[in-house]
Amino acid sequence: QARISSSNQPLEFKLEMETHIANRFALQRALRHAMENNELSLAYQPLIHLNTGQVVGAETLLRWHSKEFGPVSPVQFIPLAEQTGLINEIGRWVLREACRQAALWMSSRKDFAISVNVSLEQLADTSFSDTVRDALRMSGLPPKALLIEITESVLMTDPASIIRLLREIRQLGVRIALDDFGTGYSALSYLIQLDIDYLKLDKTFISNLTRSDRAATIVRSTMALAKALRLQVIAEGIETPDDWHRLNDEHCMFGQGFHFSRPVPAAQFEALPERYPLPRRREQAY
Ligand code: C2E
Ligand code: MG
Ligand code: MG
Ligand code: MG
Repeated sequence: QARISSSNQPLEFKLEMETHIANRFALQRALRHAMENNELSLAYQPLIHLNTGQVVGAETLLRWHSKEFGPVSPVQFIPLAEQTGLINEIGRWVLREACRQAALWMSSRKDFAISVNVSLEQLADTSFSDTVRDALRMSGLPPKALLIEITESVLMTDPASIIRLLREIRQLGVRIALDDFGTGYSALSYLIQLDIDYLKLDKTFISNLTRSDRAATIVRSTMALAKALRLQVIAEGIETPDDWHRLNDEHCMFGQGFHFSRPVPAAQFEALPERYPLPRRREQAY
């Protein structure tokens, strides 16, 4: 009898775990060669000024197309890169390449800013501010055109040194955004210590904005909080014209999402509109 009975579930589970771990190691090994094999690339998602529909920047999102595994999501490989320390080398490349690309775009678009995601592991490296300085110098990008996105997890270990580092970077003129705002553990307490410029409101709240009064309340409170702290808000995950309307009603200044564009390669980014038409207001149902 070949079938595994339900009483053998722990064994099944164990096998599953082993496959999972084997896959992880295989992925890790492949990731180690991803850079030299030119399997990494950057995608850019437009950042919109919500009042006018104008494209005012782009978020840089890393893509891995593995020869062995096909496309692998950053949600999967970024943690692996962090655990193996590879994120430092990869992150340096992302920063340089993004700055280089943005400097080219700057020449034809005014007031353009490029944002780059940075992991805790990169900030733990004391030479990170040199990495930023180098990327700016090599590309000629003005510091104010660079936005560094961090998550709350950056303050879980050794907050003092990271706060110092972020202050150093900000003194260069580079701006800082707190990503995925509202999803972390004690997001609010960090706002006391951190000098930042932008809050990125997590897409969970935006995708529920038109469906849930609670989500709307959270968005509204975040806007009030940001205003009091003199921070700008960037909304993630705008997928419909309605999302856009609602955010305009809440006076949210910036946003991004599939409604405008998915993250796309540089060449495709250049073909996107420079300004998106404001959506027509739907007839009110009441
Ligand atoms: P994130 O920084 O919060 O990036 C936003 C994610 O939301 C991206 O997923 C983007 O494709 C997705 N997104 C954008 N608009 C919409 C929308 O309208 N609806 C929905 N459902 N999703 C939307 P992606 O590209 O898979 O990246 C996932 C995460 O991986 C990023 O989250 C970021 O934390 C990390 N990541 C990506 N690139 C890098 C990188 O170069 N360095 C580091 N350290 N992390 C990165
Ligand atoms: Mg981000
Ligand atoms: Mg985010
Ligand atoms: Mg997010």
